[in-house]
Amino acid sequence: MDKIKKEIEDLRSKINYHNNLYYNLDNAEISDAEYDGLYARLKFLEAMNPDYADAASPTQKIGGAASRVFTSVTHASQMMSLDNTYSSEEVLRWHERCVKSLGHGNFEMVAEAKIDGVSCSLTYEGGVLTVAATRGDGKTGEDVTANIKTIKTIPHNISFKNKIEIRGEIYIEKADLKRLNEIQENEGENIFANTRNAAAGSIRQKNAEISASRPLKFFAHSFGYGDVDVKGFAEFMDLCKSWGFSVTPNRIRTADINEITSFYKRFEELRAGLPYDVDGIVVKINSFAEQKILGVTAKSPRWAIAFKYKPPQGKTVVNKIIFSVGRTGIITPVAELEPVAVAGVIISNATLHNFDEIKRLGVKEGDTVIVERAGEVIPKILNVVKDGGGNEVKAPKNCPSCGSKVYRYEDEVAIRCINPACPAQIKGHLLHFVSRAAMDIDGFGEAVVEQVVEKKYVKDFADIYNLKAEQLLTLDLFKDKKVNNLLLAVEASKKRSLSRVLYAFGIRHVGQKTGEILANHFEDIENMLAASLEDFQKINEIGPVVGQSVYDFMQSAKGKEEIARLKTAGVNFTQPKVQLAGNELLGKTLVFTGELNMPRTQAEALAKAHGGKVSGSVSSKTSYVVAGADAGSKLTKAQSLGVSVISEEEFLNLIK
Ligand SMILES: [Zn+2]
Repeated sequence: MDKIKKEIEDLRSKINYHNNLYYNLDNAEISDAEYDGLYARLKFLEAMNPDYADAASPTQKIGGAASRVFTSVTHASQMMSLDNTYSSEEVLRWHERCVKSLGHGNFEMVAEAKIDGVSCSLTYEGGVLTVAATRGDGKTGEDVTANIKTIKTIPHNISFKNKIEIRGEIYIEKADLKRLNEIQENEGENIFANTRNAAAGSIRQKNAEISASRPLKFFAHSFGYGDVDVKGFAEFMDLCKSWGFSVTPNRIRTADINEITSFYKRFEELRAGLPYDVDGIVVKINSFAEQKILGVTAKSPRWAIAFKYKPPQGKTVVNKIIFSVGRTGIITPVAELEPVAVAGVIISNATLHNFDEIKRLGVKEGDTVIVERAGEVIPKILNVVKDGGGNEVKAPKNCPSCGSKVYRYEDEVAIRCINPACPAQIKGHLLHFVSRAAMDIDGFGEAVVEQVVEKKYVKDFADIYNLKAEQLLTLDLFKDKKVNNLLLAVEASKKRSLSRVLYAFGIRHVGQKTGEILANHFEDIENMLAASLEDFQKINEIGPVVGQSVYDFMQSAKGKEEIARLKTAGVNFTQPKVQLAGNELLGKTLVFTGELNMPRTQAEALAKAHGGKVSGSVSSKTSYVVAGADAGSKLTKAQSLGVSVISEEEFLNLIK
């Protein structure tokens, strides 16, 4: 192979590999400077060799950044980490040391939930949020102000006017992680292992719009520095609350160390019911004066300790290791376990991620293993404690579903089945197609999909619309009424809008929102079939990678055939025009920025209802920038481009 081409390809796969470690696993292997070096080299080679351009290159990725280096921020007061322990004896010893140093035992302590997220420091000057930084190494962090400002639970203005630094935890709730992972999966992106990784990966995005799309939240939990008129931590938290910060409601204040240890025990059970992950409690001496007397060591304060919970673990036997084939053809090994109760939840499966992980663990069928649920989405196997004498697990050479040869691409750990007729993949595609957010076919669940594929009634989407009552009557538990209902649901789904059909196809990178953008832009699938690659890529909010992916689908023989057959079956391929409430904004493009009095979504809906287009970024084509309080870079850009900037009130006057 051409030497340059080889280097370009090597760089692309290296950068993809490091992106995954950095953004999804929060586990970088190389420094940011080294990363930037790779990136710059790739950009240079691509610019010099346009023949080797590839829309899938990381340099073309949406949200991809030319530099991963954030401006560094020196913390005015070091962001120390807390000493931590799992043992109540150590907590008692910590308490004794405090008694000794303070010379008495009647000091107050505060204990509160330790949220599993990412620490962040917020500096306010003159009541305005000026800098937000990550902890970094404690002395220097990364400036993530633009990203942090997108978090709705962080006030941009507070009533306190002196300079002050407030610290807290950025986190993602458990239910939000589930939804985020569904979106990631639908868009062909990596899923996050736990809420902490998701929060960390979302904060360190160079594109603030990606951070804005993530369901991040914030709890204030520490005092950085500042001239506040309070004597202790609990009072400071009350102050933070009065300024509009969220603070954890799970807190006790006491001078009795036994109350602290019993709070720890009580809370271990309770935490499972909280919406966010809690990995322990933090105990602090309340009085700032006493904190000062106790002082700090080189890395942590002496006046605080993190009393952590051990991740719930259980010991069990691996009954079987199976290979499951996903919608995209990736084959994932899964351990079927002898069911075991771990922290009140029965676990019978554990993910093994990929075949490298099996090798690393050395796990085989019959082995006794320790499983752990550390806030992880799916429990994982920690290690093997007893060899069961089984055979070494080898990656399958053939797909467990269809038997065709599997592939492992050079830069991937995953192995895949690439047979488009693979039943496991067909089932995955069908389940996605009939799902609520897609064609929403009520009653078409997993059991139905399983059977209609096995019985070869359905091998693609269009076959769903050719299902006959006689065929459905052969399915388990299907009688006349159920058959009739299902056929009615199938019929009703023909009327879904184009945006849903596009999402239902499961085109890589096309989630619900992208489906809507495309459908509103093209209005009819015929326009999409006739569109050039450039037509897709120039759409605002679509970009090169998504554009390529949609174009490839529309141009593929399979895509064309699928669309034609669905059309013949009577499926709608147009997007209903929104009934306009007025046409005052027809032909105008609006960008909303800053804090408005009405919710942003409502303002956008109003603009659209009056014929306007809403865009996420300012360009010379923007007609108006509607700026609320604290408008940032978009306002500056509008001013530099000479775009009209109007207030929310003026916007409302436009459509009156
Ligand atoms: Zn297969």
